[in-house]
Amino acid sequence: MRTRILQPGDGVAEAVSLLAEGLPVALPTETVYGLAADALSPGACACVFEAKERPLSDPLIVHIPSLDWLSRIAAPSPLALALAERFWPGPLTLVLPRQALVPDIVTAGQDTVAIRMSAHPVFAEVLQAFGRPVAAPSANRFGRISPTCAAHVASELDGRIAMILDGGPCTHGIESTIVHVLPNRLQILRPGPITEDDLRAFAPAFHGPSGIAAPGGLKSHYAPRTKLVIERSPKPKGARNGLLSWSHTGEGFLQAEFLSCSGDLREAAANLYGAMRRLDEAGLDLIIAEALPEYGIGAAIMERLRKAAA
Ligand code: AMP
Ligand code: MG
Repeated sequence: MRTRILQPGDGVAEAVSLLAEGLPVALPTETVYGLAADALSPGACACVFEAKERPLSDPLIVHIPSLDWLSRIAAPSPLALALAERFWPGPLTLVLPRQALVPDIVTAGQDTVAIRMSAHPVFAEVLQAFGRPVAAPSANRFGRISPTCAAHVASELDGRIAMILDGGPCTHGIESTIVHVLPNRLQILRPGPITEDDLRAFAPAFHGPSGIAAPGGLKSHYAPRTKLVIERSPKPKGARNGLLSWSHTGEGFLQAEFLSCSGDLREAAANLYGAMRRLDEAGLDLIIAEALPEYGIGAAIMERLRKAAA
């Protein structure tokens, strides 16, 4: 199969017609690029698992075109509705009791479903025109680094999907925050752009495993091929070491990638996966990642680095 990279405009109509045929297409979101397929078609969703080589035990996030789809897909509590009202469209995924309309392949057979509404204008335009929800995990092969631009998607899925809609680089650059909405508490399953402090304004929040064998929640994920370690004060250990820098000058390293020259954690998140990919492609024998401050979105960046190092 030839994979075409199309621009918004013509690309939107083409994406919608492929979705309607039950085929997956790669679309930009504000977090990372997603591989989208009709969420209500088990066959279309199966194509997503196949293209990504993703195990069927790892459930997909459902992206809805508008708020009125929320109660058709899930059973939102008042707390869930308040979160949706505040943070949607945006980088927050809610795990809620599912409705029967959702195919089992999407939820990995569980009685909960993960839902989000993207703020990306191109993604929103495709969903409006398609008029149905899509299931869209990150557009990378399973266990690899999430793509934050169309070229990354091509390097992961070229020849496996019909098209990539190029919406430019992703604003946030790391995956959505995932929250399991409990009766009066919020369980953070994956830290992300919506921070713990943002959530605490609504209910007490705590970190905890989802209790399902979802690889997004496993220790090792988001992995470069090159060995990666995290250090507070990075020092090269050999001639072919690379540095993923937060504040270090890069001196002594064969190659250095700087996450933010102004010490901005949001900018660092947006640059993280591109920088990891460039280091991974440089033929190094070790990548040393400098530890970042763990407040705000820094907590989510460090969680991704720990998974890359595991
Ligand atoms: P992604 O590859 O970014 O789409 O990540 C999807 C992740 O969302 C999965 O790997 C799970 O960790 C999480 N997820 C999706 N659905 C559920 C669910 N019903 N319950 C708990 N976690 C979920
Ligand atoms: Mg993923």
